[in-house]
Amino acid sequence: MKKRIALMGATGSIGDSALSVVSHFPDRFEIVSMAAGSRLEKLFPAIAAHRPKMVSVRTREDASRLRTEFPGIAVGWGAQGLIDVATHPEADVVLGALVGSVGLASSHAAARLGKRLALANKETLVVAGELVMAAARASGGDVIPVDSEHCALHQALRCGAPSEVSKLMLTASGGPFRTRPLSTFSDITVADALAHPTWKMGPKITIDSATMMNKGLEVIEARWLFDVPAERIEVLLHPQSIVHSLVEYVDGSLIAQMSPNDMRFPVLYALTFPERVPTPLPKLDLPALRTLEFHYAETERYPALALAYEALAAGGSAPAALNAANEIAVEAFLEGRIPFPAIVEMTARVLARHAAAPLQSVEEALEVDDWARRAAREILPALERPTPAGTGGANRS
Ligand code: NAD
Ligand code: MG
Repeated sequence: MKKRIALMGATGSIGDSALSVVSHFPDRFEIVSMAAGSRLEKLFPAIAAHRPKMVSVRTREDASRLRTEFPGIAVGWGAQGLIDVATHPEADVVLGALVGSVGLASSHAAARLGKRLALANKETLVVAGELVMAAARASGGDVIPVDSEHCALHQALRCGAPSEVSKLMLTASGGPFRTRPLSTFSDITVADALAHPTWKMGPKITIDSATMMNKGLEVIEARWLFDVPAERIEVLLHPQSIVHSLVEYVDGSLIAQMSPNDMRFPVLYALTFPERVPTPLPKLDLPALRTLEFHYAETERYPALALAYEALAAGGSAPAALNAANEIAVEAFLEGRIPFPAIVEMTARVLARHAAAPLQSVEEALEVDDWARRAAREILPALERPTPAGTGGANRS
């Protein structure tokens, strides 16, 4: 029987990896529904190639264009469209590859229905990890990580019982500024921050990797995915991005997972688990790599990491506030409105204003998300760069 996939985020970087995997294995996988934002020029060929039964886009206008172009396909849009794609009755697996907290409601809806959630959209677990994992447990579904570090941990955790695990060690490349003098961080341009040394990814996660907020979000993601407290989750810098993460067991054994840095590996793992299937993807040539380095992360260089641990310690709604503030800050940086160090500064200021409270529902999590976005937008003018004369200013939405 073919696995039938709902692909959330079909036009993104993980979306590309997913479509490539599905195309490699036409006998194993089929796409029944797809959701994307607004890149129709990329979405149309994907629809033509995979012929899903339902597609959703961000706006009503784009939905009308889609209906004209593909009269035989059910079309949705907006927040409800995302939920309809994820809960499509024929979908067995929902591949969550949207970016940001916009992915939460559809991930949660899929988990409640007992579908497999193959999850790249880490923000889902940062904002409401406890609720999403509880929903999957209650319905008999599972959440298999696509994020490479968590996919590595998922594999390494198969070597022992939960009581035998002493810690989870997440690796981080350190991003493009691992060795850049700290005194020059205010001069970092958008292009500098988008030049990731080892991975080619969407813009939001690439900026998160430069600030290391990405690893902070991943610590929170790991906490809920594997039910391990923050004190037993560590971060190690590993510039080559070959060892994707490690589990340390109580007897001192370290189990690491390695593979080339190509997201098709974790996508395939999450789709086929507990099976492993042969792939035509290139294998690692260890002698050619020669060296694998590991370093501690400098706290001064990566303040985002401490901030994420702080949010996790505050508990409840704090990670949701951290995540939303960071989304707004990254957007402002990408628009050229704030300098690089202001990303974490803005997120810290929102977190400082937030009174953490337990989260009872996804709706409550989304209210906190909304509050933190508004708080971040209020703080924004204080951190903004002066607009260069004659540029007409930034786009204020
Ligand atoms: P991306 O920006 O390349 O793609 C995001 C996708 O989501 C696009 O298809 C976009 O159209 C869609 N989208 C965004 N907002 C939407 C909305 N409001 N409605 C409908 N669709 C919307 O991002 P990406 O790099 O593919 O990352 C996706 C997720 O996977 C992120 O959470 C990221 O942290 C995680 N992740 C990515 C990688 C990677 O290699 N790219 C690795 C690990 C984890
Ligand atoms: Mg990752």
